[in-house]
Amino acid sequence: MKTCIACGMPMQKPADFAGGDMTKDYCIYCARPDGTMQSFAEKRAGMIRFLQETQGMEKAAAAEIAEASMRKLPAWQAQFRKGAAADGDAE
Ligand SMILES: [Zn+2]
Repeated sequence: MKTCIACGMPMQKPADFAGGDMTKDYCIYCARPDGTMQSFAEKRAGMIRFLQETQGMEKAAAAEIAEASMRKLPAWQAQFRKGAAADGDAE
């Protein structure tokens, strides 16, 4: 079974994949409307918004958790090596 390289979600059926395309390495939630993968800043902002909305977290706490989860995922390794996450809210 594949897992999304950008958020870690297990992808089991075509509908889980970006554009329903099972050859893709990222899921429907990590794709832009045009089917390309979201950028680091977009995904980070989306995760922070999600945590704030679902957990009622402060933005700073949500950002820490978002970055900690992204740090484990293959899609963002280069970003963390470059130190992009330390730039904060570049979106
Ligand atoms: Zn994903």
